[in-house]
Amino acid sequence: MAKKIPRTRHLVLVLGDQLDAESSAFDGFDPALDSVWMAEVREESTHVWSHKVRISLFLTAMRHFRDRLKSLGYRVDYRTLDADDNAGSLGAELERAIRAHRPASLIMTEPGDYRVRAMLIGTAQRLGVPLDIRTDRHFYSTTADFERFAAGRKQLRLEYFYRELRKKHGVLMDGDGPEGGDWNYDTENRGTFGKAGPGLLPAPAAFPPDEITREVIGLVEAHFPDHPGNTAKFDWPVTSADAEVALADFIEHRLSSFGEYQDAMWSAEPYLYHSRLSASMNLKLLNPRRVVGAVEKAYRDGRAPLAAVEGFIRQILGWREYVRGIYWRSMPGYLEKNALGAHRPLPKFYWTGVTDFHCLKDALGQTLELGYAHHIQRLMVTGLFALLLGVDPKAVHEWYLAVYVDAVEWVEAPNVIGMSQYADGGVMASKPYAASGKYIQRMSNSCKGCRYDPAKSTGDTACPFTTLYWDFLMRHETLLAKNPRMTMQVKNLKRLDEDTKQSIRDQAESLRISLL
Ligand code: FAD
Ligand code: SF4
Repeated sequence: MAKKIPRTRHLVLVLGDQLDAESSAFDGFDPALDSVWMAEVREESTHVWSHKVRISLFLTAMRHFRDRLKSLGYRVDYRTLDADDNAGSLGAELERAIRAHRPASLIMTEPGDYRVRAMLIGTAQRLGVPLDIRTDRHFYSTTADFERFAAGRKQLRLEYFYRELRKKHGVLMDGDGPEGGDWNYDTENRGTFGKAGPGLLPAPAAFPPDEITREVIGLVEAHFPDHPGNTAKFDWPVTSADAEVALADFIEHRLSSFGEYQDAMWSAEPYLYHSRLSASMNLKLLNPRRVVGAVEKAYRDGRAPLAAVEGFIRQILGWREYVRGIYWRSMPGYLEKNALGAHRPLPKFYWTGVTDFHCLKDALGQTLELGYAHHIQRLMVTGLFALLLGVDPKAVHEWYLAVYVDAVEWVEAPNVIGMSQYADGGVMASKPYAASGKYIQRMSNSCKGCRYDPAKSTGDTACPFTTLYWDFLMRHETLLAKNPRMTMQVKNLKRLDEDTKQSIRDQAESLRISLL
């Protein structure tokens, strides 16, 4: 006979990206009266075809967090993926929990995904249980703060939002002005490795699987055998303590060079001087205030230069907060945006990494192996190719949401739909990030040894990026000509004679057909 569960006062709902015992959902938590609900469900790994490392990271971090809560004396109703009667979706599992616990109310911190939020609200309403959704204190700004910032502005731009947050939170300030006299040191942050390459790089701290992670990986391999990704090299932080180690390691060994090389790429060097902290922050194992505070302290202690520290802080205090504001402001409907009318399918090689385009092979290969690529690989290789080819932005969005360990919709969607595909028509980015193969040649070593030539747009050895770049400018010339930030590119297009333009169009069309 099933054990009767005593009635719960509040049932606190904790999702896989809410692994913070200090979150608002736990305010007033009484272990004697309240319980926690967590559920591993198949739907969250299959609504997009999730990478095995991404699934493994979420599940093992959840299990470690469950054990931490239990060690605090909390009652946790935790549903494992392989429980015989696991209903497979968050809504159905929540319904089961409500019937078992008969709580007076449900409490949770704001979810990071509109779909999940709607599902949980719908279930609670249908069963007549009040659901208290609390502000997410993990972020510096609330969604209401962002609305206030956006109100009355014709165009939203990161720079002003970022400056406001710097002032409000006293980050990298010198009195009322920015530390060092400038708000932004971006011009010092565009270095490349040159022909000699990056040299010996400091390997980031690695976290080999413990017993819980090994068990989870086995479960993932058994339940999702055909999903993309390879779990053999799993080494992500899975607890807050791990994440602290990763932060300290980054500050000591890589922060100083982060700024200069943040846009550079190099084959078979996935991490370079990047922090690898996004997944820990997105799962809420690590608080961004802790990260920003520690990085600023490194500067004040003379352990890292201002340009690197400002560049890094801008990513977290600026971009990370900004994209969240855009997401919640633009949902629902954002995922359907398609300002450039792009409808082509995503090339199959995005899921296999098999292509003779070297730069794509590099970025896709490491993504499928590790679940990681850094910002410029995501924006200016995989994202750029899809933009130039004219792939349906929703298909691009689903791929990004599936393959990166740090992918949660509030941060992924604006970066993909807005920044990389310009599908929101300029809400997120002031211009499309369109470039030819020459950009990739300058920023990486991928073109060396590639059978294509980034300088050529037609002929057997034409670089597909370069062909598609000119074709993109031609296809969208009327729209782009209205954008002052595209003036130079449109001017260069006008210099091409009609025969050249037609050859490019023909080459682009054959390329598109060959990729079907
Ligand atoms: P670092 O290079 O070390 O940067 C430090 C931190 O800054 C990151 O950990 C991250 O928290 C933050 N950050 C940097 N850039 C951004 C940004 N554009 N938006 C928000 N935060 C940022 N980031 C995700 O966390 N999840 C995603 O699903 C995601 N999808 C992306 C898709 C595209 C097309 C692009 C262009 C960017 C995407 N990003 C995403 C942003 C960025 O690429 C990753 O945060 C970063 O590569 C993670 O690696 P890292 O921790 O080593 O970052
Ligand atoms: Fe990529 Fe073109 Fe360079 Fe080849 S030549 S690596 S396809 S940019």
